[in-house]
Amino acid sequence: MTAQTGKIGVTTDNIFPVIKKFLYSDHEIFLRELVSNAIDATQKLKTLSSFGEFKGELGEMNVRVSIDKEAGTLTVSDRGIGMTAEDVDKYINQIAFSGAEEFLEKYKDNANAIIGHFGLGFYSAFMVAKKVEIRSLSYKEGSEAVRWECDGSPEYTMEKIEKSDRGTDIILYIDDENKKFLEQAEVDLLLKKYCRFLPVPVISGKEQEWQDGKMVDTDRDKVVNATEPLWTRKPSELTDDDYRKFYHELYPGQEDPLFWIHLNVDYPFNLTGILFFPKIKNNFEITKNRIQLYCNQVFVTDSVEGVVPEFMMLLQGVIDSPDIPLNVSRSYLQSDTAVKKISGYITKKVASRLEEIFKADRADFEKKWDDIKIFITYGMLTDQKFCDAAMKFDLVKDTEGKYYTLEEYRTLIEGSQTDKDGDVVYLYTTDPVAQYTYINDATEKGYNVLVMDGQLDSHFIGMLESKIEKSRFVRVDSDVVDNLIPKSDKRQADLTSQQRDMLTEMFRSQVPAVEKAEFLVSFEALSAEANPILITQNEYMRRMKDMAAMQPGMSFYGELPDSYNLIVNTESPVIKRILADADATLMPQLQPLFDQIAENNSKSEAIRNEAKDGKPDEEQQNQIKQHDETATHLRTEQNKLSKEYAGSQPLVKQVIDLALLANGLLRGADLNAFIRRSVSLL
Ligand code: ADP
Repeated sequence: MTAQTGKIGVTTDNIFPVIKKFLYSDHEIFLRELVSNAIDATQKLKTLSSFGEFKGELGEMNVRVSIDKEAGTLTVSDRGIGMTAEDVDKYINQIAFSGAEEFLEKYKDNANAIIGHFGLGFYSAFMVAKKVEIRSLSYKEGSEAVRWECDGSPEYTMEKIEKSDRGTDIILYIDDENKKFLEQAEVDLLLKKYCRFLPVPVISGKEQEWQDGKMVDTDRDKVVNATEPLWTRKPSELTDDDYRKFYHELYPGQEDPLFWIHLNVDYPFNLTGILFFPKIKNNFEITKNRIQLYCNQVFVTDSVEGVVPEFMMLLQGVIDSPDIPLNVSRSYLQSDTAVKKISGYITKKVASRLEEIFKADRADFEKKWDDIKIFITYGMLTDQKFCDAAMKFDLVKDTEGKYYTLEEYRTLIEGSQTDKDGDVVYLYTTDPVAQYTYINDATEKGYNVLVMDGQLDSHFIGMLESKIEKSRFVRVDSDVVDNLIPKSDKRQADLTSQQRDMLTEMFRSQVPAVEKAEFLVSFEALSAEANPILITQNEYMRRMKDMAAMQPGMSFYGELPDSYNLIVNTESPVIKRILADADATLMPQLQPLFDQIAENNSKSEAIRNEAKDGKPDEEQQNQIKQHDETATHLRTEQNKLSKEYAGSQPLVKQVIDLALLANGLLRGADLNAFIRRSVSLL
């Protein structure tokens, strides 16, 4: 045949600029494309041979990537099926098919759509080459070798050549901007990234060894890939050590994984892979060692957002599926229906595997629970289906370190922790050390307390409340123990309103100033053994503040001071004593003022009653105002007396400080004063 020239079948002249500029943001993927083609050609010939359709010698079936620096070429060679001139015409020249032109016209600004639609793998060579040459000899008997050449314009040349060995060489004349692809080290990097698990040996360069103080090439070929990576093998043939070894190959320098899940499906799509649960050191490190996606052992990407369910972004490992389109960008992947199905499948598989592990070896599962909890919680929060499945093996841990499933736990506490409205109250602590006194009070009363100190637990609690019928989560320090689980109506503190006023001011005035904290004094008749004073924080307010800390846009709650209840236990002997002393000493001083206040109030009241139609005239309004001012003044007087008196009673300060101390709120000079006072009281 004489040299044939022609135009490549995409008739729009734009195709090459499109390829160069838009199709692949990563120029480097040209190598992946060419090596993949070479592997495909090799595999096809092996298949033909196994069916007896190719009767010749297969010989060594390798793919070679070689560099000729002087010639400025990079060559990918295979010993696969090769191409006849007709094949080149059909597969290389006619990259267009019916309607391609309109399609290109329509989508010329949307590279993703184009990539998704065309198999443009081979043409990606033009991203880095000014000229590309194909030299090929088909496996078919009596074939003639063919050379094809194209300089990146839509024109090509094709001619007959002499080539004795079967297969294809793709020769890239690397252009000036891409000279780095003529460096062995650079090529090695790319091969390592995209080709390390390809099913046919890929050879590039030579093995090196240490000689006379430097590394030198030996004459042994360097194979860059492992042709049978672990995920392609049968789980039954593999040991735990195999999995761990593979994990460390993928992610050097990591601790052993906690679990792994070997995925293997062939219906309704093909998917294999291994997912690892890594041991995350600092709770939420966003790991750069992410899941890797493969398509028939060719690395595609490790940006798997949208392909694997969101919570699995925390997992590691590989997923391999021929149903994941290779030549596409992520946004394309995410909208792909096959990909969506894959994601759903993985979720189901991970959930059922976790359940299996839980059932098979609960002790081991519990041992690892603290480490895997973050995955499960995150999964349950973000994926409804996973959540439903995980309700069976999600564990909660109590302050004694015992683990329960949600169902077991409910059975455990139902008897003692159901409140008067029939809600089961789940008590929890976010900090077993700081909230120790409350936990102690609760457990002494026969309650169980859960540890909920995970990063996501404040959200998780809200979700559990909505999932578990008639349930309520209450932090153990949010109220005095008798009120945590209200059983019947509370006993009222037995105080006159004057005693109440007196004590309120006595205690309020003696609380040291704590930064960003407010205290509200209230009275309750708890048991005589309970602490004289308890400090609690409102559950709702605290949750709001916890959430605010995690979410921008809720800073309003974050700005508010912490408001605490300072609950005075009127049944406590100490409080009884403080009250008796104050009744004896302070009350006689306050009494005349109480009387005057009452007198003023009744005078104002009388004026209001006299007023016509309940509307006091100007004169009457002035009188009321005067009485009110007098009353306010008298109250200030009273408060002064109460404060002075309370200040002289070390016991008052002592009981307040004890309560603050139990909550970690007593610091600095106040703590020092407390210690001195304690010593002198002793
Ligand atoms: P795709 O691989 O997506 O089909 P390509 O543009 O990469 O698209 O390749 C087009 C076709 O050219 C391939 O399907 C194959 O038939 C043929 N081809 C490419 N490279 C080789 C090769 N090394 N050996 C044999 N045939 C090849």
